[in-house]
Amino acid sequence: MGQGALAEVGYCTLWDRQDRNESGVFRAERQTALCRRFKVAAKTCILYGMSRPSLIQRLGNRVRSTARDAVISHHKRSRAVLFSDTTLRDGEQMPGATLDPDQKLKIALALEAAGVHSLDAGFPASSEADVEAIRRMVGVVRKPVLTALCRTLSGDIDAAERALDGNPVHKRGVSLFCGTSPIHRAEKLNKSKSEILEIITDSVAYAAKSFRIIAFSPEDASRTEMNFLCECYREAIDAGATTIGFPDTVGVLTPEKSADCIKAIQDGVPNIDRALLAVHFHNDLGLAVANTLACIQQGANVVQCTVNGIGERAGNAALEEVVMALALHSDQYERTFRIDTTKLSPLCHLVAELTGVSISRMKPIGGDNIFASEAGIHQDGLLKNPDTYLPFRPEKVGADGIQLVLGRHSGRRAVSHRLEQLQISVSDGVVGQVVEQIKQRPRGTVVDDRLLTTLVNGLTDE
Ligand code: MN
Repeated sequence: MGQGALAEVGYCTLWDRQDRNESGVFRAERQTALCRRFKVAAKTCILYGMSRPSLIQRLGNRVRSTARDAVISHHKRSRAVLFSDTTLRDGEQMPGATLDPDQKLKIALALEAAGVHSLDAGFPASSEADVEAIRRMVGVVRKPVLTALCRTLSGDIDAAERALDGNPVHKRGVSLFCGTSPIHRAEKLNKSKSEILEIITDSVAYAAKSFRIIAFSPEDASRTEMNFLCECYREAIDAGATTIGFPDTVGVLTPEKSADCIKAIQDGVPNIDRALLAVHFHNDLGLAVANTLACIQQGANVVQCTVNGIGERAGNAALEEVVMALALHSDQYERTFRIDTTKLSPLCHLVAELTGVSISRMKPIGGDNIFASEAGIHQDGLLKNPDTYLPFRPEKVGADGIQLVLGRHSGRRAVSHRLEQLQISVSDGVVGQVVEQIKQRPRGTVVDDRLLTTLVNGLTDE
């Protein structure tokens, strides 16, 4: 009962391979001992004539909630950043990015290989295609927790349960959301604050009957009054939510304000120790990644991102960018994460290919220009040592090598390097003339190997 109940709870389990650090094992053992004590107590009570089913139920609930608190507290102490990917839900929601169930499975497997902690796999109540995609993932995508999006409606939660049926209880969860900001309450839902609180409590309690992993997010949290927001969280946690989300639904925050919100939630929700804190940012001001990082610095446990930052309007926080910022600044954030950075570039290209949403050339991590250079001074430096003009090398993110593009801005060093690679040996004088000829080509001319060879031949034939 002890280990089973422990494994059932939390946004992930103590038994995950990389998570088994000393303190985790120690805490788990302590919990197992605690469970044994409950069993002894149960037997004693039965001896004294208490009804067995109600007793076992009560003790079971107690053990579960104790175990849940232990797992959550372990995650908080471990200082891990848990990546929750929503490419297949919020990302796929963007106009024109629709994926079929097979394509979703491919991306889910790539996300699993990259090491994401959980997958926002779809919105079962919204479409049969979402249900079908989740059904394909069940039993196939095994490592991440699969979560389904639900409104605070019992029908949505039932649909999520059906879609995720067959996945172990510690690998499936629901993400409930309900608008809480003044504009959502008045214009969209026509509900008072107390009605909203009741909806939250009822729906979380309903979800707790069939799910151990329950996230609750107040939609439009960033425009919700902080006092009311904290009240929503407190009620949700009391009703059984294991994660509380802070979505900046319309993408209006700045990094400083995002961090202030997280601090206010940490200070204003008395039972916050019993839930993980997740953040979800939109990129309307181009700040989604910066806001996510500010919240990580402030102690958020879970970050929700999408590959290539695809999503509603200006998109979401880009997973690959958040990961690389954490990877390059571990001294600043002092947080661990499990993403394999060498999987990032192929992942970005897979998502672009399957969604049909191409990657901008300048897009960090996945863009075509990220490891390409045309400027002579940069090319010379890159040839001497790639680190002169790169924040990280291509292999760090699994990208192809550095590309030295030959064009008007290139110098002798890059031209002679390319000629050497092509095993064409020419004098320094010819190299200089080739560089001059390249500079005279019409603007935007791409000097590929064929043109380069033609230019050299033209010079050496003379
Ligand atoms: Mn969103």
